[in-house]
Amino acid sequence: MKFNTKTIHAGQKPDELTGAVMPPVYFTSTYVQAAPNQHQGYDYARVGNPTRTALEKLIAGLEEADQCACFSSGVGAIDAIMKTLKPGDHVISTNDLYGGSYRLFTQVFEKYGIEFSFVDMSNIEEVEKSVKPSTKLMWIETPTNPLLRIIDIKKVAEIAKQAGALSVVDNTFATPYLQQPLLLGADTVMHSTTKYLGGHSDVIGGAVASSDADFMEKIRFQVKTTGAVPGPMDCYLLLRGIKTLSVRVERSVYNAKIIAKHLNTHESVGCVHYPGLLSHLHHELAADQMSDFGAMLSFELKDSTFEDASLFMQKTKIFALAESLGGVESLISHPASMTHGSIPKEVREKAGLKDTLIRLSVGIEDVDDLLEDLEQAFDK
Ligand SMILES: *Cc1c(COP(=O)(O)O)cnc(C)c1O
Repeated sequence: MKFNTKTIHAGQKPDELTGAVMPPVYFTSTYVQAAPNQHQGYDYARVGNPTRTALEKLIAGLEEADQCACFSSGVGAIDAIMKTLKPGDHVISTNDLYGGSYRLFTQVFEKYGIEFSFVDMSNIEEVEKSVKPSTKLMWIETPTNPLLRIIDIKKVAEIAKQAGALSVVDNTFATPYLQQPLLLGADTVMHSTTKYLGGHSDVIGGAVASSDADFMEKIRFQVKTTGAVPGPMDCYLLLRGIKTLSVRVERSVYNAKIIAKHLNTHESVGCVHYPGLLSHLHHELAADQMSDFGAMLSFELKDSTFEDASLFMQKTKIFALAESLGGVESLISHPASMTHGSIPKEVREKAGLKDTLIRLSVGIEDVDDLLEDLEQAFDK
């Protein structure tokens, strides 16, 4: 089955009992057993629910993985991955990443004795230099958030393999429609399904997908034992959202390219970070490992202060000032104080994230309206 067919059909078939086209939403916490420990694959809903199973099979299909486990949030999924490590283990992570991942790594897992090195992973030599005998995991987020740098998944996965470490890709920004990390050699993919997979800003969720059976057994153990599981309605919303993934992403990317080009030649704009621009530092790598360039971009106003950026974000009317991304509606945000507010200012600035940076998540509205909205916000 090809990708667009899988978004509609993978992991789902008409309900055997009724013929219902959509997977039923199973609101149940438990399942009757014929005799003690004799059941039809489901014993208690923390461990499994058929609506969740349909979603897991669907995401596994999209990521070319044998298995997937779903969580109640993206950070719940990351938490489960990190809990497969033990004190003394070392993790190499990109230094330009989702602020919530950074907070989880530094404020929870460092306390439990896991060591992190945050490096510019778009520089392969930096990654090689950071490997230690205790390196057990490489955390790759690409395109990076919010600077849209591109990390070479193939090369980092190769370094990880040689070091005996697991390579994990946070594929939230790209979506499986544009980037399939397992086919590039990564061991595991993680998603905040809250974003493009859900696509309608109405559900929080996470997922881990991999073909490494031993690793997935550890993840299933975390699902059962620590319990950050999604409810059946959340799973249903995701099953529904994913059906339109490719058409939503295509339209968002179409809009984002036009907006990026427009901003790139705008007299009031300083720099634009969008991998689809020929001037982007990693444009060729992006063209190589992604099937298109995504719908996230960031930029700075020319010679601007934080106040200028803040005023701009308050003036847009269609671009709503809000955290998150990947929904049908366009959003504008201030990474330094919002999504990345938990990263100390010195650390942020060292990674290149300035207080004047503005991030856009481009939705599927008419692009002329989006351009007009940005244009009126430039007017002083
Ligand atoms: C939002 C996000 C997360 C966290 O996911 P939640 O669903 O909000 O818990 C992780 N990584 C990236 C890249 C994100 O954008």
